[in-house]
Amino acid sequence: MKVLKFGGSSVANSENIKKVLAIVANASKEQKVAVVVSAFGKTTDNLLAAANSALVDITIAKNILETIKELHYQVIDDLISSQKKEVLEVVTSLLDRLCSIYEGVFLLQELSDKTIAKVSSFGERLSSFIIANAANELFDAAHKESKALISTNNEYLNAQVNFKITNQNITSFFDKNKHQVTVLGGFISSNIKGETTTLGRGGSDFSASIYAAALNAVELQIWTDVPGMFTANPRVVKQAYPISEISYEEAMELSHFGAKVLYPPTIQPSLRKEIPIRIKNTFDPENVGTLICNNPNNSDEVKGISHIEDISLITLEGGGMIGIPGFSKRLFETLSLEKINIVFITQASSEHSICVGVYQDDAAKAKELLDDTFSIEIDRKKIKPIIVENDLAIIAVVGESMKNYQGLSGQMFSALGRNNVNVRAIAQGSSEKNISAVINKSNAKKALNTLHEQFFEEKTKQLNLFVTGVGNVGERFLAQIQQQRKFLKENLKLNIKVIGIANSRKMFFDNDGIDLENWKKSLENGEPTTLKSFHEKVIASNHINSVFIDNTANEEVSEVYETYLRESISVVTCNKIACASSFDNYKTLKQVSRKYNASFLFETNVGAGLPIIDTLKNLINSGDSVHKIQAVLSGSLNFVFNNFNDKATFHDVVAAAQKEGYTEPDPKIDLSGVDVARKILILARESGYKIELEDISNNAFLPEETLNTKNNEDFYASLTKSEGHFQNIYKEANDKDCRLKYVAEFINGKANVGLQHIASDHPFYNLEGSDNIVLFFTDRYPENPLIIKGAGAGADVTASGIFADVIRIANK
Ligand code: ADP
Ligand code: ASP
Ligand code: MG
Repeated sequence: MKVLKFGGSSVANSENIKKVLAIVANASKEQKVAVVVSAFGKTTDNLLAAANSALVDITIAKNILETIKELHYQVIDDLISSQKKEVLEVVTSLLDRLCSIYEGVFLLQELSDKTIAKVSSFGERLSSFIIANAANELFDAAHKESKALISTNNEYLNAQVNFKITNQNITSFFDKNKHQVTVLGGFISSNIKGETTTLGRGGSDFSASIYAAALNAVELQIWTDVPGMFTANPRVVKQAYPISEISYEEAMELSHFGAKVLYPPTIQPSLRKEIPIRIKNTFDPENVGTLICNNPNNSDEVKGISHIEDISLITLEGGGMIGIPGFSKRLFETLSLEKINIVFITQASSEHSICVGVYQDDAAKAKELLDDTFSIEIDRKKIKPIIVENDLAIIAVVGESMKNYQGLSGQMFSALGRNNVNVRAIAQGSSEKNISAVINKSNAKKALNTLHEQFFEEKTKQLNLFVTGVGNVGERFLAQIQQQRKFLKENLKLNIKVIGIANSRKMFFDNDGIDLENWKKSLENGEPTTLKSFHEKVIASNHINSVFIDNTANEEVSEVYETYLRESISVVTCNKIACASSFDNYKTLKQVSRKYNASFLFETNVGAGLPIIDTLKNLINSGDSVHKIQAVLSGSLNFVFNNFNDKATFHDVVAAAQKEGYTEPDPKIDLSGVDVARKILILARESGYKIELEDISNNAFLPEETLNTKNNEDFYASLTKSEGHFQNIYKEANDKDCRLKYVAEFINGKANVGLQHIASDHPFYNLEGSDNIVLFFTDRYPENPLIIKGAGAGADVTASGIFADVIRIANK
């Protein structure tokens, strides 16, 4: 004998029920089968919604009932022909009874647990009857009312099974039953008086296990809409996968902590008889699914992660509890007398506080009861009034062999910490089958994904990017990611997704990763953005390993980095403004980055994609110290002075540099030397010196009038006006056989930038195009400097520098 249970979605409509019948036909070829079914689709929800509506407005209740009727009549129409008349008669009379109950609720304005149980039982009564008759059209099948077999106490909505009576009922019925297939409704039961009771929401799994145990079935199969019990809820963790085998205890822990795929009490009856449970997918019957058994073939120390939302923490706290026995007894007694379920317990070893987790719906009542129980101690100030904290969630990491491994809880909590998930309370059962933590509900998705990555996905790391600024650099950056994604996934086991993008007007988010072929269109159709709304969206999307990328040159954007870092979101930027702002601000960003374990990387602030800052960091971290830096750091100025001579106008050369993408959007920032000053400032700071932009002497070559222009148009006009001035500068250098280079120097704590005449024997003399060069003179390189040279401007190399920073974060 086998027992097969089919859940609500497996029997949601005629098409699905056909799949169920095919599975049952196949399974019943070799042996007898008991089939336990849930109500069709969302019928139980609808039945309850109608009952609650009936209290207020009978028309609404009847409208909902109409939807229920339509679904059931449609299934009969589609699947039953020979016995249709008889089936319709029974179903219609059941639905009429149901309608009368709703009318009764409306008239009496009363909806007791007893009535709720009765109303909700109609889902399984109807579904099992209809499916049994549909099955009988194809093979030998009969219907049996579950209510007549499963006997319980009087707790109508969460009834406790009397196994002695129930097992007798089941065995004596099946002993006489000759049919190959028997279809029973799950979830429903009755008390000694014969009144309808129910086994709790999701209880059909439990019914099936009760039958399987009573009948000593060879296997219990739970057929549902996913191919097994997953490493985490697949709707929340995209990377979750089915667990091939798992023990009864582990499955019980996972379901107790929220893995809805199995109703928690289900395991117990099957465990007692050691009946293997297989979870399978009705829509993919070939898939082996998950086997729950005594000795699973699975050596993973962590088997799964689950969570429960809408938890409240109730804390009993006060010096008056120390050393005095009985506080916890009274606490638990009070809650259990009122049937308030305790999901989680911790007690600090100082005995100064006891903390329990309960469902949020019970929290207010629990507080009231406990304040009452402890009123004397509270009045005498021995303990504080009960503290309730709402909107929490519990996450649990489950695995029987966790106890044999050291450091798993360390891994769990450091992974959560790295992703800025605040842990409010911790419990580890002494059996060490699970470690659970209470966190804010808003962090649940992130926490689950973090832990899933930690314990199940070491091999592929995910990085989620939020990109602001999709102009020159941003566009190339997105193109490079698009091009490299596959390579990174296959070779570096790195899965990079761009989740959000924004320009100054619009933003667009896709939590599954933006399609980078079509991002322009998506952004165009995106929603209006501000820095604040973008930030809020990033936080709300709550992704792990998040990186904020600033591809703008905008001061306001540079001011939001700290808010990201404080959320443990790394920041990568090609915008120099933050690192070149006040030293205090630069230092704060570095400190916040360390404190919140979020990288703050800005390699492209100096020399675009050239590895200048990274090299400098490596020198400093390995104990070297910098004495002097000499550098040509402006790709734009280099381009300008390499192309400017007595045959070209200064204006045209600058315009060409801008057109090639070698300048900042405001070219005056380059030409005035401010950009170079910012770069040497950043290098000096990264070398460990406290220095401000005002400390850098800037020997500017632009005439005062040009420096004072307010927009690009005036700026260019003024260049034309001063052509003579620029020609003089060129002539002076040319007469000495020198070339003009805009040089930045940092010597023993002091920095300067300015135009210099470079003679032919100097390493700077042959610098071409928009190339940059940096000479580091350090303890280890005192005379022959460490030289870094190469293309130092342009959108492509800058984008690749940003990309390199992203990879650095991934490798951290
Ligand atoms: P049924 O109607 O068949 O009883 P349920 O909706 O009760 O199905 O349970 C199946 C659902 O459980 C899945 O669709 C999935 O969303 C959810 N679920 C939660 N945690 C897990 C998990 N760890 N593994 C598989 N499914 C899970
Ligand atoms: N139909 C019931 C419910 O929705 C029982 C079940 O499907 O397991 O809760
Ligand atoms: Mg279920």
